Amino acid sequence: MPENPLIFDTHAHYDDKAFDEDRHEVIESLPSQKVCGVVNAASNLESSRAGIELAERYPFIWAAAGVHPQEVSNTPENTIEILRGMLVHPRVVALGEIGLDYHYDTPPRDVQLDWFERQLRLAAELDKPVIIHDREAHEDTMRLLRKYRPRGVLHCFSGSPQLAEQVLELGMYIGLGGTVTFKNAKKPVEVAAMLPLDRLVLETDAPYMSPVPFRGKRCHSGLIAYTAERIAEIRGISVEELLSQTCDNACRIYGIAL
Ligand SMILES: [Zn+2]
Repeated sequence: MPENPLIFDTHAHYDDKAFDEDRHEVIESLPSQKVCGVVNAASNLESSRAGIELAERYPFIWAAAGVHPQEVSNTPENTIEILRGMLVHPRVVALGEIGLDYHYDTPPRDVQLDWFERQLRLAAELDKPVIIHDREAHEDTMRLLRKYRPRGVLHCFSGSPQLAEQVLELGMYIGLGGTVTFKNAKKPVEVAAMLPLDRLVLETDAPYMSPVPFRGKRCHSGLIAYTAERIAEIRGISVEELLSQTCDNACRIYGIAL
């Protein structure tokens, strides 16, 4: 295991069924792996509730509440009212993950766009940071981010350095995870090299996106050590500096005092 002083995982899904067998065991092992904070990103209302339960139970977990673009066709019409109620909870620090996913043809784009806009309006109303999912939808995502100007993070950023510049101009942060360690990684590596250190956060997307040498296996927040090792190498700084700065960034975005 590389050295890992302070890991803040800004994006994990501990409510996922991949953790049904041993969820509490996995979570309880995180502090011994130097994990000091996790934001559990929601995919739908049920997962938002599950994330809140985890955040109530563990002092190092905070929850986001929101509906992922792949889930919007199943969400009830009063979703925004329900989310508004959840977002006043003191352990709910963000609205997410929300956004657009054009990798598949379903749900139809107009439905995704409609729910993305509704949730962006809610974030503006409540002045909450957002966690943005943008898969193969850079143009529409940027258009709506320019329109609503939310605070928050572009998670699992897959764009070019040029697109990253545009995100930075909006004042937002960029989340990088296991993909920077992949052998064929090009854009994430370029982005990891160019980002100002005060705009970068680390994430797993656990149970997905494990870094090398665990690619394809179930991920957990402790494995950020490997992602951090690679990013520190790309940037020519120490892992300690990277972890401590990205942890500060996460706390600033989400208003968390560790
Ligand atoms: Zn996610």
